[in-house]
Amino acid sequence: MDFPGPWIRNQALVIAFPLIETEATPLVAALFFGVFGLVVGSFLNVAIYRLPKEGMSVWRPLRSHCPRCAHELAWYENVPVLSWVIQGARCRSCRGTISARYPLVELLTGALWALAAWMAPSVSLALVHVLILSGLIVATFVDLDCFEIPDEVSIGGMVVAPLLSFLLPEIHAETWIASQLSTPAEGGTVDAGGAFLASLTGMAAGGGVLLWIGWLGKKLFGRDAMGLGDVKLLAAAGGFIGPGGVLMALFIGSLLASVSGVLNIARFFCLIRLRARVRKARKNALRTLQAARIAGRYLPFGPYLSLGVGIVLVDWKDVVQLLERFVF
Ligand SMILES: [Zn+2]
Repeated sequence: MDFPGPWIRNQALVIAFPLIETEATPLVAALFFGVFGLVVGSFLNVAIYRLPKEGMSVWRPLRSHCPRCAHELAWYENVPVLSWVIQGARCRSCRGTISARYPLVELLTGALWALAAWMAPSVSLALVHVLILSGLIVATFVDLDCFEIPDEVSIGGMVVAPLLSFLLPEIHAETWIASQLSTPAEGGTVDAGGAFLASLTGMAAGGGVLLWIGWLGKKLFGRDAMGLGDVKLLAAAGGFIGPGGVLMALFIGSLLASVSGVLNIARFFCLIRLRARVRKARKNALRTLQAARIAGRYLPFGPYLSLGVGIVLVDWKDVVQLLERFVF
């Protein structure tokens, strides 16, 4: 990357050097990562919009367009969150409304990047964590929109996970199997080989358990219970958080999905009752419940899996403590 002048170059190095070379204080790292995360969130919006569309590339065209009038956005129309607020949620060209989801995704990305930097024991590990969290954000919103998880995220993660685990064994410092497979000569910590094997085991565990649940669901209920996108996503996650972590993530995700599923059915139950009352049609509660269950059946699982993976990734130990206190 070329910096425009020596003064600016010096300033950039002054800011970047202590972060990379020494352990930055958590607050400085969180601020730095938070601001950068806002900008990345803007890019994730583009990915969420373009990835599910056939023949669209994330990189080209480089400039974003208004989806309504195709007006090309100038840099000052593309400033994370601020542009949306200043322009009053409208396109400057056609005055069409811009969804609040764009600034929300940017804020979410910034917040998660700051959180990851705050929690991670080192800057290099924080960088890996924000990469994973960004992938999870894309998976979540594409799944909410289109009931699918882009292969760029899931298969991409499955390729990157063992590679990064080999290069930065610290990723699996908390993975039990990694410490078992590592040679004790490394001083009790994990080595490259152990982390690599832990990554492969985690992928097998994450993908395997969902495939098995899907097979079981088909045997028991005779319908497809699990999408292949979820299987690939959890396999990729397992590559980063290991077999124990990925099972914990699945447990947390399933718990959240169940709560959300019951709430969704309750929402449809109320909606159907309300509509029946407006039409003055009497319907018994059991039939309403049956209708609500059918209407509320289809919830994407990806967002809940992503939430589970994110929790385990950012703070694995505190999650275990929390569960031990409240569940077990
Ligand atoms: Zn427009």
